[in-house]
Amino acid sequence: MNWLTNFVRPKLRALVARKEAPENLWLKCPKCEQMLFTRDWEANQEVCTHCGHHMRQRPLKRLPRLFDDGKYELHPLPRVTADPLKFRDTKRYDARLKEAQAKAEGTTDALVVASGLMGARMTVIAALDFGFMGGSMGTAVGEGLVMAADLAVARKAPLIVFSASGGARMQEGILSLMQLTRTTIAVRRVKEAGLPYIVVLTDPTTGGVSASFAMLGDVHLAEPGAIIGFAGQRVIQDTIRQELPEGFQRSEYLLEHGMVDAVVHRHKLRETLVRMVTLLMDPLVVEGRSLAVTVR
Ligand SMILES: [Zn+2]
Repeated sequence: MNWLTNFVRPKLRALVARKEAPENLWLKCPKCEQMLFTRDWEANQEVCTHCGHHMRQRPLKRLPRLFDDGKYELHPLPRVTADPLKFRDTKRYDARLKEAQAKAEGTTDALVVASGLMGARMTVIAALDFGFMGGSMGTAVGEGLVMAADLAVARKAPLIVFSASGGARMQEGILSLMQLTRTTIAVRRVKEAGLPYIVVLTDPTTGGVSASFAMLGDVHLAEPGAIIGFAGQRVIQDTIRQELPEGFQRSEYLLEHGMVDAVVHRHKLRETLVRMVTLLMDPLVVEGRSLAVTVR
């Protein structure tokens, strides 16, 4: 050891070494496999700049693009018993939860509830987060949706839900299945108050969520190419022993078959939602005659 190895060599190494590219500078589109510059992709609302493929977007990335001037208030989810069944598979459920919470930047479960102005009208949005344990619905998500519905009724605001889920949260067993009825009743309260309930189906919307509040909208919009269904394609194929048609369970297929009202590009979502809510909330008065659209 001398000054050459201790001092000169590191200096030379630092000079010669290529500066390491920051992580996540590029990403690959899962559809067209083009390399995308992350900053361009984010500016394009996480839609592939080559082929238009809509990648899964987490609620905190989505919300600023929907509310006026990107301003909104987040409503923390009601506190629930964290691990009611003390469930354990290869890992303890409460450990899995903590891990997901640590990665979720401030959100506590797979649902984010926010309120704010959209087209100058108070609106409540509840968005599921597929990045949080596959957007699975347990007690916290159920409670959160009930809270969002109550908030909409209290503020006489429309409720917009963004769905993205693999289904019920297995680690909560029967308690997660109970959320199907609870969320259905919550949505019904919004409808009984005469307020619009709009669902935006995003990739993927499956299982218990598609069997409850995600399919009860007054209007169903869907993002392009999203998988929407109850059971997975392979399960159905193995059960009925038949080849399924091309594009089965995709947004466009569901639009053709009347399950979805419109497939809307992510760039057009905000303006479409604002227009829709205005149509549903404001009675149109033409020459003294009311052309009110009644939401029931
Ligand atoms: Zn692409």
